Amino acid sequence: MKVLKFGGTSVGSIENIERVKELITDGDKKIVVLSAMSGTTNILVEISELIKAEEPNKALEIIETLCKKYNGVIDDLFETSELKQTVGNYIDGIFEYLKSLTSEKHSELLYNKIVSQGELMSTYMFTQFLIQDGVNARLLPALDFMRIDKSFEPDEFYIKQNLQRIIDEALPADIYITQGFICLDAYGNVANLQRGGSDYTATIIGAVVEADEVQIWTDIDGMHNNDPRFVENTHAISNLSFDEAAELAYFGAKILHPQTVMPAMEANIPVRLKNTMDPESYGTLISQQTDGDGIKAIAAKDNITAIKIKSARMLLAHGFLKKVFEIFEKYETPIDMITTSEIAVSLTIDNDTHLTSIVEELDKFSNVEVDNQQSIICLVGHSIVSHSETHRLFRVLQDIPVRMISYGGSKNNISLLVSTEDKINALQHLNKYVFEDVVS
Ligand code: ASP
Ligand code: MG
Repeated sequence: MKVLKFGGTSVGSIENIERVKELITDGDKKIVVLSAMSGTTNILVEISELIKAEEPNKALEIIETLCKKYNGVIDDLFETSELKQTVGNYIDGIFEYLKSLTSEKHSELLYNKIVSQGELMSTYMFTQFLIQDGVNARLLPALDFMRIDKSFEPDEFYIKQNLQRIIDEALPADIYITQGFICLDAYGNVANLQRGGSDYTATIIGAVVEADEVQIWTDIDGMHNNDPRFVENTHAISNLSFDEAAELAYFGAKILHPQTVMPAMEANIPVRLKNTMDPESYGTLISQQTDGDGIKAIAAKDNITAIKIKSARMLLAHGFLKKVFEIFEKYETPIDMITTSEIAVSLTIDNDTHLTSIVEELDKFSNVEVDNQQSIICLVGHSIVSHSETHRLFRVLQDIPVRMISYGGSKNNISLLVSTEDKINALQHLNKYVFEDVVS
């Protein structure tokens, strides 16, 4: 069995919905995970923000506009008035529910209830659309089996048992459709796997059903070797190892939700990234295999804060780093990059919620300097730290002030920290030095 996930644009227009139908009706049994139609989750987040800002009337206006859009889609997708009515009733029910939520007080649960509606709508409409065309499709409600535990990790035991149970109980089908992104929390409340989490849903399901392969269908042709928004002539990377893909997904290759690779890696299930608009192209295959030498990809992550902690007491002392780390631990703030000298340590964080308190505590025993608006640029490839061509990347030091370099933390990653205003320039220079083979 294969698990196929389709993102928002794949179900964002009638034409694309038709395309997805063609792609999945090849006679093989499969589970299809869907995101909300493109733009919907952003609008739902906006609704939740308006409720938080105590602007229920503005929220209602947006709900009305979204409702009209969905009614238009239903009109175009369904042929008989009976089916238009059935699907219309379901969608109207959702919009009535959303309207009723505008009079509630904002809470995290309210947010979760609101943002879960997009996937409920897309999967219901898509399943009905397939059934209309004679496809033997069934909807498996994600809230009947997908659950996270108290540490927000997928509760694999629960998921496996319940998914198996509802598949067994459902009438046999060729195609099972389910919602990406949404789940229950450890207390049975509606929750989600964070923005972009449908990819993660797909690999969690892939792992529990021991799928032959998980396919993530988007509107780009795979993971690129550099950021196509800033660098010309990038290309999709054909093969990546799980480790390489995990580094890239975390460090800003926005195509995959960062945790997506984990369940697939643990269960050793290949993940294929495919383009709905160009199904024939190979895409990117992520598996246990590594392929090719040298740097394969460059990616950047913004909104990084660098903190320099300087203290004469660090000289020849032990336990200094422990003291520093304990403060970050206390404020549940993960550290990403770290470099040290004999009397100072520089590190980066991407969550600055508790920055003020952290700095206050560090200040008690050191001099602290904070630099905002930094970007991590990471270069990834199999064993690149020992590859004979890797040195070429360091030519970038001639062009751009580099704040930190992390080399040797893993064999497959070298990271540079630059000011965000230098990021594009750095990506372009690195592309030239690393991929374009310019020796000048
Ligand atoms: N619909 C959700 C989002 O926009 C989840 C996803 O698309 O993966 O974040
Ligand atoms: Mg996505």
